Amino acid sequence: MVKVEKLGDGTYRIPGRTVIGIVRLDRDCYLIDTGLDDDQGRKALNAVKSLNCELKAVINTHSHADHIGGNNFVEKRTNVDIFGPLEEVPYIRNPKLEPVMLYGGNPVPELLSKFFMAKPSNAKPVEDTSLPLKLVDLRGHSPGMIGIQTDQVFFVADAYTSIDLLGKHVIPYTYDPELALKTLESLLDTKGLLYVPFHGEPSTKPEEEIEANISAIQRTKETLLEVLNNDLSTCELISKVLSQLNVKIVNTALYFLYESMLKGYLAWLKRDGLITSKVESNKIIWMKIKA
Ligand SMILES: [Zn+2]
Repeated sequence: MVKVEKLGDGTYRIPGRTVIGIVRLDRDCYLIDTGLDDDQGRKALNAVKSLNCELKAVINTHSHADHIGGNNFVEKRTNVDIFGPLEEVPYIRNPKLEPVMLYGGNPVPELLSKFFMAKPSNAKPVEDTSLPLKLVDLRGHSPGMIGIQTDQVFFVADAYTSIDLLGKHVIPYTYDPELALKTLESLLDTKGLLYVPFHGEPSTKPEEEIEANISAIQRTKETLLEVLNNDLSTCELISKVLSQLNVKIVNTALYFLYESMLKGYLAWLKRDGLITSKVESNKIIWMKIKA
């Protein structure tokens, strides 16, 4: 039996490494993400069955493999529509784009595992349809992430991660850390809802967790600026920042994940006029702009 937790009126979650949300409106059900793989897709469909409702659509909060991995299974079994944010749809339809984005080219085999590349599914832009659900812009963790809000519950996807996981990963994954920070700050302004992160536990008082994610992003930005007291190549810079933050990269795939993320920070610092870069001896060299 699949475990389904009731969150509020017509709202449920399937706990797991990646949470799956369910919103029920009368007889109709909507799945919020489908987990990592076929197995989780099957679980999601069993959960819908146990709630005795009819699956109307799948809504993907964003295109990361651990959120869309069950789409293919659900699509094959039910043929329901799958929707995702416009900016994420290309990645859901062509999941190799995720490892391509992380690697910045045709990816190494280590990035082609199910943790980075889901099976494809025929997603459509959620902006082009009318759903009886409130969608909230939560971009930053990924290019176009959305959350789903009801009167009582706010499915916030990966806008923040639990303090436990933050302890393990040190830096919360962001595609655009500047936007992720804005999203986190906006979450602090919303009150009176049960927040449901997809890597963590539901809470009506998420402030401490949100603040911890904000601090981790700020600390990463400050560390980058600090190590740039000396001009550095991308490779040296990444190694220095991660060592200073006590991050231990244990495999090739994770290296590219962190590298891709830190390059997002470098773009942010460059946009803000805090750093600049030059090409020298066939290397990109990053430099702090001295005030
Ligand atoms: Zn994610």
